[in-house]
Amino acid sequence: MNILILGSGGREHALTWAVKQNPKCDRLIVAPGNAGIAQIAECATLDIVDGGAVAAFAEENAIDFVIIGPEAPLAKGVADRLRDAGFLVFGPSEGAARLEASKSFTKEICDAAKAPTAGYGHFTDAEAAKAHIRKNGAPIVVKADGLAAGKGVIVAMEEQEALDAIDDMFGGAFGGAGAEVVIEEFMEGEEASLFVLVDGEEVLSIGTAQDHKRVGEGDTGPNTGGMGAYSPAPVLSAEIEAKAMSEIVKPTMAEMAKRGVPFQGVLYAGLMIKDGQPRLVEYNVRFGDPECQVLMMRLGAQALDLMQAAAEGRLSEAQVNWANDHAMTVVMAANGYPGAYKKGTEIKGLDAIADDSMNVVFHAGTKAEGEKVLATGGRVLNVTARGASLQEARDRAYAMVDAVDWPGGFYRRDIGWRAL
Ligand code: ATP
Repeated sequence: MNILILGSGGREHALTWAVKQNPKCDRLIVAPGNAGIAQIAECATLDIVDGGAVAAFAEENAIDFVIIGPEAPLAKGVADRLRDAGFLVFGPSEGAARLEASKSFTKEICDAAKAPTAGYGHFTDAEAAKAHIRKNGAPIVVKADGLAAGKGVIVAMEEQEALDAIDDMFGGAFGGAGAEVVIEEFMEGEEASLFVLVDGEEVLSIGTAQDHKRVGEGDTGPNTGGMGAYSPAPVLSAEIEAKAMSEIVKPTMAEMAKRGVPFQGVLYAGLMIKDGQPRLVEYNVRFGDPECQVLMMRLGAQALDLMQAAAEGRLSEAQVNWANDHAMTVVMAANGYPGAYKKGTEIKGLDAIADDSMNVVFHAGTKAEGEKVLATGGRVLNVTARGASLQEARDRAYAMVDAVDWPGGFYRRDIGWRAL
């Protein structure tokens, strides 16, 4: 089977690593890929949000299966263009991708499916939004309706902060994304993520994870794309996971099918857990990054079979062969991230690190220059390990981190603190 993976981050390196191990995989092309991916697969230059260009590329290269990593091509309907052209695709349609692209749409689906989530109001008028905030008081959560790269959410502990957020959003701080806002009840609890494959009808859990959004140890400092993750998340016990599946995931997926926009791909459910009850914080319509790295580390080669089963509508026949294991990834980022950072610093020591089914350094933002590996992004490496326990995975991951010689980078030393 010839496979095309779209994307260029650590998430796509992890997908490539897992897919490549499956004997079914013949030719493997990643567009655009990165320096780490280039060591194990072909990389190609391609505008991945241009559905026509992706379909033409797939045609030219006799691709049998396209796996879409990031949300941008999904929200632009690249999966639809590819399916129209007859390709097998892993990833939702533009209509189903609204579960991530529009927060008010997700709220409406949750209402119709009676799925537990935060109470909310949806506003297109600043004064009405402010009146709602004054009536409900703080803490309260203000969200730009559309995609805002994780920056469109203000968890306001004071009423004034929420009112200011309304001024910012209606003032155009997030462009078109702020012309509509969702204001939510503040939910207390512990957050964890559940990853589920969906084939339009059937659902299959492929694991739980917890990430670390803040840049500093002890969960301090500004938000980032994620500084580390581990799987499974102990807070999502089997009972709570079963509840999340039966009360949230299944009814919302059934509601999508009922509306003629069945979801196919991976559904990433961000959950808030309190007193044994999960509530939905948000849906994403793709793997998390860096959560994908720990999920792929645990699934290995079977990830391809599972994604193919989802794409072919055969999930009812599929099952996960779980090894009773744990995985952790530590993100190494460029000094200064998530603020301004320098590009082009050299990373040494990678060749000396073990690269096997228990230890992998996934690349998120690197470029090869001759023999050198240079950092090109904010989040640069995802140092990932597997073990019989979380502690073992953690020890292994940090031993690898210690072997990386990169004065231009930093990382958190406390990944996994909640679970350990
Ligand atoms: P991302 O996809 O980057 O996680 P996003 O922009 O899609 O972010 P959300 O996930 O909806 O936004 O919210 C971001 C974070 O804000 C959540 O992970 C959670 O910590 C917090 N949050 C969101 N909604 C609520 C809520 N109703 N109550 C408490 N905290 C919330």
